[in-house]
Amino acid sequence: MNGHPTRPEDFDLYALGVLEGEEKAAFEAHVPTCAACAEKLAEARGRIALLAFAAPRVEPSPAVKERLMRQIHSAPEGARLQQRERAPRDAERTESFFGRWWPVAVLAPVAAVLILVSVRLWQQNTRLIDELGEERATLQQQQAQLDEALDVVALMEAKDTISVALASQPGMAKGAVRVMYNAKMGMAMCDGWVDPAPANKSYQLWLVPKDGKPISAGVIEPSNGPINPWTMKLPPGVAAKAFAITLEPEGGMPQPTGPMVLVGPVS
Ligand SMILES: [Zn+2]
Repeated sequence: MNGHPTRPEDFDLYALGVLEGEEKAAFEAHVPTCAACAEKLAEARGRIALLAFAAPRVEPSPAVKERLMRQIHSAPEGARLQQRERAPRDAERTESFFGRWWPVAVLAPVAAVLILVSVRLWQQNTRLIDELGEERATLQQQQAQLDEALDVVALMEAKDTISVALASQPGMAKGAVRVMYNAKMGMAMCDGWVDPAPANKSYQLWLVPKDGKPISAGVIEPSNGPINPWTMKLPPGVAAKAFAITLEPEGGMPQPTGPMVLVGPVS
């Protein structure tokens, strides 16, 4: 063998210590002179080293080694192998035992290593994906907060933003709420406070337009005195007559059904 080993398995076989005779000599003569083959041998040694961790090393007998080598080498020439193996029944049975079981004995540790490595990679992957997912969620949350902050700034800076003070109606829950509204931007922001809503009820904020039905601007968390300032998107271009807060079944309604608790006319 003057050139590269022709069979890719020679590297594994050599690293396993089962390449013998002329083949071994030719292999050893060539590999030190060839960087590509030296690299392949290093890779094979790495693979074999992994095997050493996975299974106790068992030295096969020379006969078994030979048999294994023949089996591996003639695998691509299956037809010829079968012809050659038309031997007496007993011999065939004995041989086929080794033929069948030795590859299993050799391959089982390989499979075990592959499974271990795969499971570990899979676990690492899953963890990385989880971490990525969490970071993406955090980023999205931060982006949303930033967007909202920018919306608030835009809303407060716009010259055509109006401020509407909502006062509590006689006999109703106490509160004071301020709504900033920009019709062109279709955006409102609300803060202030209101007495906690009764159980199973929600406060709901409404834009009362000059024409048409009230438009829901969102539900105010019940049993929560101070309102966290929050921005809301509304259909743009709606001229407001007033803003109002009603008491509705928990979760709010498409149209107001309950009593008005706070009202603020647009001046
Ligand atoms: Zn080579």
